[in-house]
Amino acid sequence: MAVIAFIGLGNMGGPMAKNQIKAGHTVRVFDLSADAVKTLTDAGGQAAGSPAEAAKGADAVITMLPAGKHVKQVYIEGGVIDAVAKGAILMDCSTIDVPSAREVISAAEAKGVLMVDAPVSGGVAASEGGTLTFMVGGSDAAFAAAKPFLDVMGKTIVHAGPAGNGQVAKVCNNMLLGISMIGTCEAFSLGEKLGLDPKVLFEISSKASGQCWSMTSYCPAPGIVPTAPSNRDYKPGFAAAMMLKDLRLSQEAAATASAKTPMGKAATDFYEKYVEDGNGNVDFSGVIREL
Ligand code: NAD
Repeated sequence: MAVIAFIGLGNMGGPMAKNQIKAGHTVRVFDLSADAVKTLTDAGGQAAGSPAEAAKGADAVITMLPAGKHVKQVYIEGGVIDAVAKGAILMDCSTIDVPSAREVISAAEAKGVLMVDAPVSGGVAASEGGTLTFMVGGSDAAFAAAKPFLDVMGKTIVHAGPAGNGQVAKVCNNMLLGISMIGTCEAFSLGEKLGLDPKVLFEISSKASGQCWSMTSYCPAPGIVPTAPSNRDYKPGFAAAMMLKDLRLSQEAAATASAKTPMGKAATDFYEKYVEDGNGNVDFSGVIREL
């Protein structure tokens, strides 16, 4: 069994760390929130005084943090890369900007330490159930070293290519999701205004060329897909503020790559306004109510 340092024990990281404890590993935990740490020590984790203390002598480091600046703080300024032994594997599972992901992995490689970016798809329920999808960027050796630890927390683990490519996959997927959700909301709203029952539109469109995940698994019109947040007054699910975070990352990434993403920009502007209007904690499918 391995010694794991787990840093960032929030909504997603907390249950992921618990799954590592359940798998029999020794898990040293660190978070800025004392409450988050206590939840994990109650579950059998060992509290560490700092990220570097948690990482010293560990076989693996896993982080689940809000943004690129926190990831750099922990690995570079916080001394995790300096603290770990050469044989350790570092896995950042946060959703962050591509340049920060590549910068931190380069810093690890410069010290001869293997590291992957491994952002996830799936929310808190998938984190608790150990059924996340991981999109992994890094060398073949780093992917092979990370895979047994990711297997404990996820069901689908995909190697997306070199360092940073996990974040690239995540940002492209979620940009498409934001666009397709707005499109689905527009179609169901327009149909209803023209006298078409949303259930009938679903019956047709879910088997026709307009079919997409936003419709068939997460329908924004209530009373059609039982598990969708539209049946729980748009309680998240996936909060609009989180969708906005990912769309902003997509626009930053598009700018650095000189890629044209006019629909991605439109979706970003749309969610920007939706969140500004006080809907940050509403599910991202709630935009149907704006139409
Ligand atoms: P969260 O805010 O619940 O948790 C983040 C945790 O990091 C907090 O406990 C915070 O105290 C801690 N933290 C922040 N800075 C720190 C530092 N310097 N050192 C140690 N701890 C620090 O967020 P979350 O929902 O768990 O999301 C984490 C990441 O996962 C984000 O990048 C998010 O985009 C991504 N993600 C979230 C979801 C979701 O449904 N919540 C889904 C997919 C991906």
